[in-house]
Amino acid sequence: MVGPPKTLQDLRKVEGAVRVTCRACKRVTFHDREEMIQLRSAGLQSCDWAAVVHGMRCGHCLGENVKVEIEAFADGLPALRRRRAAMITIELALFILRQAAYSGSRATIPVEAVRLALRALHPFLQDRGMLERFWMAYANPSPHPWGGPGSCFNDLVRGLMKRGFAVPAEFR
Ligand SMILES: [Zn+2]
Repeated sequence: MVGPPKTLQDLRKVEGAVRVTCRACKRVTFHDREEMIQLRSAGLQSCDWAAVVHGMRCGHCLGENVKVEIEAFADGLPALRRRRAAMITIELALFILRQAAYSGSRATIPVEAVRLALRALHPFLQDRGMLERFWMAYANPSPHPWGGPGSCFNDLVRGLMKRGFAVPAEFR
């Protein structure tokens, strides 16, 4: 790639990630380009490189005085591999839990799959209460829609997003 990229998608050509260096606290954060594309597209934010650079903050002190660069051939970075693995786990778990939350399809989802999906989310959500509320609502369906697993599912999605995880748009 010659010169700066035009869009985040251009980073795919060089397997690039986004490297953010903070001029205040001196720490470096790497951002996964696929996660950023997903997050920004879902939030109707531009993937133009200029817009990405402009909106970047330090991942530690949230300072705005940062240097934003491309880290080429970064797909093998352990931090990014862990992040991608987390995204895949979250997406699969939410797929199962959403089906389980809606009575029309719950009979097709084994109870063990629901328990596994809840366990899989725990390291990311780190909120046992939220997972237990889903389980209770799933195991004891209420006749009222507001107490049902559907609203607990929405809580899980919001909780994951609050902790900075990209949740595919279809689950929001
Ligand atoms: Zn900083």
